[in-house]
Amino acid sequence: MMRHFFLFLSGRPGLRRWMERSPLSRKFTRRFVAGETLEDALAVVGHLQQERIWATLDHLGENVTTLQEAAASADAYLDALARIEDRSLPCTVSVKLTQVGLDLSEKACLENVRRLAAKAKAGGSRVEIDMESSAYTDRTLDVAARVAAEFTCTRAVIQAYLFRSADDIERLNRLAVPVRLCKGAYDEPPSVAFASKRDVDRNYLELMKALLDGGAYPAIATHDERILGEAFRYARERKIAPDRFEFQMLYGIRRDLQRRIVDLGYRLRLYVPYGTAWYPYFMRRLAERPANVLFLARNLFR
Ligand SMILES: Cc1cc2nc3c(=O)[nH]c(=O)nc-3n(C[C@H](O)[C@H](O)[C@H](O)COP(=O)(O)OP(=O)(O)OC[C@H]3O[C@@H](n4cnc5c(N)ncnc54)[C@H](O)[C@@H]3O)c2cc1C
Repeated sequence: MMRHFFLFLSGRPGLRRWMERSPLSRKFTRRFVAGETLEDALAVVGHLQQERIWATLDHLGENVTTLQEAAASADAYLDALARIEDRSLPCTVSVKLTQVGLDLSEKACLENVRRLAAKAKAGGSRVEIDMESSAYTDRTLDVAARVAAEFTCTRAVIQAYLFRSADDIERLNRLAVPVRLCKGAYDEPPSVAFASKRDVDRNYLELMKALLDGGAYPAIATHDERILGEAFRYARERKIAPDRFEFQMLYGIRRDLQRRIVDLGYRLRLYVPYGTAWYPYFMRRLAERPANVLFLARNLFR
């Protein structure tokens, strides 16, 4: 119930305007968002590097309404990629296609992602194409596969809660497109997605094994301790070397598990969001764990 409620609120423009403009906004966001500027985010990436943790930068924003805004979002990512290259940081970028024009023109969106992938390739980085709600899955995978055919530094994202994901992974593995596997963060109807955590987790484990066995440098993105334990066990049993895949987690979540992964000798990349358009991202984090509302309340009254 709470999950649906927060995901419903994540789409309310009035609440969004109020929260994003509130003078208290830094208090809302400090746990999950690196800061408002690229410089804030790069400082976090630098600290993580000292802890042997890699990063992927998300310049917050989604569902832009003009092609100019889409191009400006792509430019912000080009800027980030340039700074990553200048400082030789172990860092990729994560982009949502609705932020670079998918709702407006598939052609313009493809061109924007190609520009990012070309820049990432030149600088030894990577473009990770986040997955949004199921209304975008086909188009997102289509763009990801087309860009990946030209630039191997492109990663697609698959959500374990969708019924279709086993087929998608089989196809992406065949095309040697790297995949990030996550559970899925949107409110999906029962016609397309598993509703219970048990079914999502079971599917996650199956898809994870398909990626570890046959994927091109997959990313296992979860904070689920049981799934992580199974990933360690499976990799050991199958003698899958730690440099053949990576784990990914979100900035601000389960620092204890982050440390454990690195100490075990595995690769870990944190998803580091920055920018002023933080509201939908933030509400999805609350939806995942309503206990975060208590954390938020404590911060607001401190
Ligand atoms: C690197 C990365 C990239 C992602 N990219 C996408 C994407 O492109 N598209 C998409 O739909 N989703 C994406 N997600 C979000 C993902 O789909 C899940 O919503 C999110 O990761 C929570 O699922 P979980 O695997 O951690 O498991 P859960 O079963 O939700 O949680 C397991 C445990 O993790 C901890 N935890 C999980 N979430 C939180 C939280 N918000 N606050 C505090 N503790 C928490 C708790 O200890 C919880 O018991 C991404 C997640 C990661 C880590």
